[in-house]
Amino acid sequence: MQSEKINQIKAEIASATATNAEELEAYRMRFISKKSVIGALFAEMRNIPNEHKKAFGQEVNEVKQLAEEKFQDLIAKSESGNQKKASLDQDLTLPPTAWPVGGIHPLTAVRQRIVTIFERIGFNLSEGPEIEDDWHNFTALNFPENHPAREMQDTFFIEKHPDIALRTHTSSVQVRVMENEEPPIRTLSPGRVFRNEAISARAHCIFHQVEGLYVDENVSFADLKQTLFHFAKEMFGKDTKVRFRPSFFPFTEPSAEIDISCQLCGGKGCNICKGSGWVEIGGSGMVDPNVLKNCGIDPEKYTGFAFGMGIERIAMLKYQINDLRLFTENDIRFLSQFRGLL
Ligand SMILES: [Zn+2]
Repeated sequence: MQSEKINQIKAEIASATATNAEELEAYRMRFISKKSVIGALFAEMRNIPNEHKKAFGQEVNEVKQLAEEKFQDLIAKSESGNQKKASLDQDLTLPPTAWPVGGIHPLTAVRQRIVTIFERIGFNLSEGPEIEDDWHNFTALNFPENHPAREMQDTFFIEKHPDIALRTHTSSVQVRVMENEEPPIRTLSPGRVFRNEAISARAHCIFHQVEGLYVDENVSFADLKQTLFHFAKEMFGKDTKVRFRPSFFPFTEPSAEIDISCQLCGGKGCNICKGSGWVEIGGSGMVDPNVLKNCGIDPEKYTGFAFGMGIERIAMLKYQINDLRLFTENDIRFLSQFRGLL
């Protein structure tokens, strides 16, 4: 009699169908769940005489397995059925969904703008390694032995090689150019630089610089001023004023910080310019004769000027960005605002 019941369940399983979620659930309730007909068979086990228990148990397990296999089968069939249905529901005459197109990163756009401005007045592009030796990063550039930039807290040195460091500026590229080329040299070196700084709204351990170098006979400070004056007007607009403030760098003499009139207040004084009407964009100066000599260029015959600017700094001033960290956070809400630049 039990066998008859089991055979009946088997037949029922074999003919079961399910095309949607409700029917699948109904199947699950009838054959799989604890309260299913198969569950009831297991409950009956205790009423079976001992000598038949083993055979009965085998039969019940068999039907249980059958029910589960069928269940998987029904799930698979109903899924592929749904997909088929979904694909038939599509209207192929509708226009496709537009995929959002990415944009150029603001730093890349600003870098490209700077490069274009200088290329138009005869500068070429030069690049160098980000991992530098002491000579190209410091010594050739007239940094004295005890200069603070050479300390571990300012520069990332590679531990096993105190001579090797991540470059702290792209001036190292200028050294390489001067070592390998004869004047006249007019070159622009953009690139990534590294300093051991705590990350904040105003400082980062990785940032980008662009440095320019012009070496030839009779290059004067007037050429430096005129070149940067041209750059400031091209980059920030024709009403931009430029100011040079005396400063000190080991590799230039004389040296000057470059300020431009504040873009936000037009020179009247505001938060951004701290009330002065001026904001700093970089450093500059006449190449120190020692540096020319170190690079195999005769300082008696040639003179040159050099300047350096932070690309982040220029981008922050141009687009009034108030936090340096935004450039590296990869937040689409920030980056998408620069779509269409260039
Ligand atoms: Zn201002």
